[in-house]
Amino acid sequence: MNLIILGPQGSGKGTQAKLLVEKWGLFYLEGGQILRDLSKGKTPLGEQIASFINKGELVPDQIMVDVLKTFLTEDNFKKGILFDGFPRNLSQAHLLDEELKNYQVVIDKVIFLNISFQESLKRLRARRSCPRCGQNYNLVTMPPKNDELCDKCGSQLTTRPDETGAVIKERLEIYQKETLPLVELYQQKGVLVEINGEQSVEAIHQEILKKISE
Ligand code: AMP
Repeated sequence: MNLIILGPQGSGKGTQAKLLVEKWGLFYLEGGQILRDLSKGKTPLGEQIASFINKGELVPDQIMVDVLKTFLTEDNFKKGILFDGFPRNLSQAHLLDEELKNYQVVIDKVIFLNISFQESLKRLRARRSCPRCGQNYNLVTMPPKNDELCDKCGSQLTTRPDETGAVIKERLEIYQKETLPLVELYQQKGVLVEINGEQSVEAIHQEILKKISE
């Protein structure tokens, strides 16, 4: 089974994706994380990617697709792939369709985690992570035990450069303009499963399982 998980930043895509990956042994293709990892390398490609991420802008489609192609393999499609953070606009959705044809596979369902703009903004502003061990927190939904210190290694938590002030707004605006049209596209294709993302993690997980098996 191949799935896409779609929703605004802060909707809990990563959390739900990990639960599904664990349950079904899918290959997890997390677009944003793959790009962030590449952006840390001191290569021309890494630096180019970092310049887009730090401004909150989308990385150009062709770069994104070239990067992702390296993960689109027979083996991964055998497991089933869960796409998170890709596609992010209509052009990427069409490029993905072209790639899928090469493997004679389709996207079975698109899970749309819907939360409001205000909720998304609130959740993003509360995100923190540990610069040393990488553990993620949310000051509202998953706070550390002591102030803003990592539970695991005690380091001072930090905010991602693209999760501060104006960059957050830029990312949410791009989501509304570029990514939201995908909801209509997948609805027309009859594969969209819409879930209210403003429920508990467990309630959302159960609703996804129920609606996917319908
Ligand atoms: P995320 O953590 O998924 O919000 O992604 C962080 C950043 O990575 C985004 O703000 C973009 O700059 C970049 N990015 C992630 N996924 C894509 C994509 N499918 N296409 C282009 N850029 C992306």
